[in-house]
Amino acid sequence: MTDLTLKEILATGCLQKMAAEPGSAVTGSAEPGSAVTGSAAAGSAVKYTLRAGEQRLALNDYLGESLQLEWTGAIACTHCGRATRKSFAQGYCYPCFKSLAQCDTCIMKPELCHFHEGTCREPEWGQRFCFQPHIIYLANSSGLKVGITRATQMPTRWLDQGAIQALPILAVDTRQQSGFVEVLFKQQVSDRTNWRAMLKGEVVELDLAAERDRLLGEVSDGLSQLRQRFGDDAIRALDEPAWQFDYPVLEYPSKVASHNLDKTPLVGGRLMGIKGQYLMFDTGVINLRKYTGYEIRLTA
Ligand SMILES: [Zn+2]
Repeated sequence: MTDLTLKEILATGCLQKMAAEPGSAVTGSAEPGSAVTGSAAAGSAVKYTLRAGEQRLALNDYLGESLQLEWTGAIACTHCGRATRKSFAQGYCYPCFKSLAQCDTCIMKPELCHFHEGTCREPEWGQRFCFQPHIIYLANSSGLKVGITRATQMPTRWLDQGAIQALPILAVDTRQQSGFVEVLFKQQVSDRTNWRAMLKGEVVELDLAAERDRLLGEVSDGLSQLRQRFGDDAIRALDEPAWQFDYPVLEYPSKVASHNLDKTPLVGGRLMGIKGQYLMFDTGVINLRKYTGYEIRLTA
């Protein structure tokens, strides 16, 4: 039992993923003063906002402070709001998980899009969400990776992954096309983040433009085939500057232990940093996104 009378309640409500926005000086890898990983310089670091119910809390302000995060035991589906004993796919109740298009396997693997077969779980949602411009990018979260995102999700997507660098390389018209392109790249480069390495801050800066040029050479036959299938301008090369991100981290852990609210509903410690969707306490890290829909109380 915690004694709340001695504590200041900072936020209560059901968690959503943290909002993240880049600090100043983010684009252009050669820009003077561009961020260096590991520094928590005011202004240049990514700004995180905790979102619990209707409450918003500027989390960067609490770096170095002792915080406690407590799960009340309740979970509300992030889509329909109904109470659920267990969370599926990071925040959904079971009926939503089984019926929403956004929980279908083709969201994780867009090349499996089955809209054209007339079997999309929610064709209207699919039309809006999947038939819009998508970007294939390279990012450096724990080393080089490839990924896809809706054009509107830049740079949020990269901040959620804890990437220190990112470079959009190709634009396509639909989510399915982005999946086909990503499949080509995945033969050459990972699409995963090693979250432990990302959280230890052991990430070496890369020349993403050089990696792009090298990889485009490797996949050129595959890209030609996709252009034959979808039209010459369906897959467009981008020539944009790389993005660079600096995270609010006082000190990276040498060993990464993770907290689990399902097993230990009260966690906390001194907040040493925020990166990706993780809070880094001196007692261990916690992936807040995993607990989307969990009703929490954050105290200081
Ligand atoms: Zn639901």
